[in-house]
Amino acid sequence: MDLHSGSPYWAIKNSLYQGAHPLQENISTDVTIIGTGITGALVAHELCEAGITCTMVDKRAIAGGSTVASTAQLQYEIDVSLYKLSNEIGNKNATVAYRASLKSINDLEALFNKAQIDAEFVRVPTLLLASNRAGLRKLKDEYQIRKESKLPVDFLESIDLQNKYQIDRLGALWNDTSAQIDCYKAAVGLIQHHQKKHDLKVYPYTEIIGYKRERSQFVLQTLKGQTITCKYVIIAAGFEAGRFLPKKIMDLLSTYALVSEPMRPEQLWPERCLIWETRHPYFYMRTTADNRIMMGGEDIPYKNAKLRDAKLLQKTKALERKFHKLFKHIPMITDFSWCGTFSSTHDGLPYIGEYKDKKNMFFALGYGGNGITFSMIAAQIICNKIKGKKDPRESVFSFDR
Ligand SMILES: Cc1cc2nc3c(=O)[nH]c(=O)nc-3n(C[C@H](O)[C@H](O)[C@H](O)COP(=O)(O)OP(=O)(O)OC[C@H]3O[C@@H](n4cnc5c(N)ncnc54)[C@H](O)[C@@H]3O)c2cc1C
Repeated sequence: MDLHSGSPYWAIKNSLYQGAHPLQENISTDVTIIGTGITGALVAHELCEAGITCTMVDKRAIAGGSTVASTAQLQYEIDVSLYKLSNEIGNKNATVAYRASLKSINDLEALFNKAQIDAEFVRVPTLLLASNRAGLRKLKDEYQIRKESKLPVDFLESIDLQNKYQIDRLGALWNDTSAQIDCYKAAVGLIQHHQKKHDLKVYPYTEIIGYKRERSQFVLQTLKGQTITCKYVIIAAGFEAGRFLPKKIMDLLSTYALVSEPMRPEQLWPERCLIWETRHPYFYMRTTADNRIMMGGEDIPYKNAKLRDAKLLQKTKALERKFHKLFKHIPMITDFSWCGTFSSTHDGLPYIGEYKDKKNMFFALGYGGNGITFSMIAAQIICNKIKGKKDPRESVFSFDR
């Protein structure tokens, strides 16, 4: 599967990290992590810090999958509203999921600070706009349930939006707990850090095509014929993890994003907050460190990469139209656009942990629009499991939820 195409901004802004080579021989390790995206990098971080020896492999360049295409907004708000999620899985579990997401933003900030990784982590508020009257009604219900669940949230009336942001919408939810990062820089920074600090072994361009179990161990087979013997396997293979699972657990979507030419800082909206809306698929945006506007949305069901790519120009134009409708006074001009593959689960939550009888094979599948916060949660839950510690969040994200 081709995970993205076009010109992802982070791939242009950051130089390609080449500090590792493909696997050339048979090796043994305690834990193998399949995937060097942000999920694999965070899992490696947690394991290395816990003194557990691990090895990473990736069929592509390091962090060259969805991670390099991500717009990398960090929000505690999940694609499925707390109101809807509470109806589906009960308010207690829904609140656990929302609180876990909220905590993971703080954990990511602390982790980058402690390891001194410049992931361009910046705190920004979030504005969730009502797309229409129905959206406004949903926002009012959502505001109520988030207040009752003691989650950070404020309600902004239409007049507040007009006065402060020059946005003409019926209302919005606002909170100041979000952040944004450069996801590629974060993943590469973590991997480099642990290569130096813990002698983490990383093998790009090394595809795992199968595995067998020999007594209490796994023997992984690579496309080029080498084997990796290990006690535990972590599947951080993103949207290609399906080959390790016996059944389909997510729906794939094609998604589109663009970044503008650099703006003058005073041309950008107040607070440079993250903005998204109640409509599905939603339109969303953020800014970058070099004063560009980055936006995305226009999701459609994924059929194949050729069809996804063929719509890039049309979808770029649609994103531009949506932006100019929202901010008539900001002269945004597109510099680069790209498309990627994305996936959603029935309840908007990720799948984390072992799948039924697949003992010692842990899945870290941070699906949905909040993939990165889910990656942080997955890394912690899996590290705890390997250390033999129970994690109070695990049942909410498990395969048999
Ligand atoms: C356009 C776009 C915008 C997004 N915006 C946001 C956002 O604002 N906020 C947010 O939180 N999330 C966002 N996401 C989602 C987020 O980017 C993903 O959840 C996250 O990058 C997934 O990281 P990952 O490490 O799990 O997967 P990937 O980055 O895809 O890494 C998985 C790696 O596994 C490797 N691999 C797969 N199979 C094998 C195999 N058999 N052998 C060896 N290697 C293998 C792949 O090559 C790949 O490098 C967005 C995604 C896209 C595409």
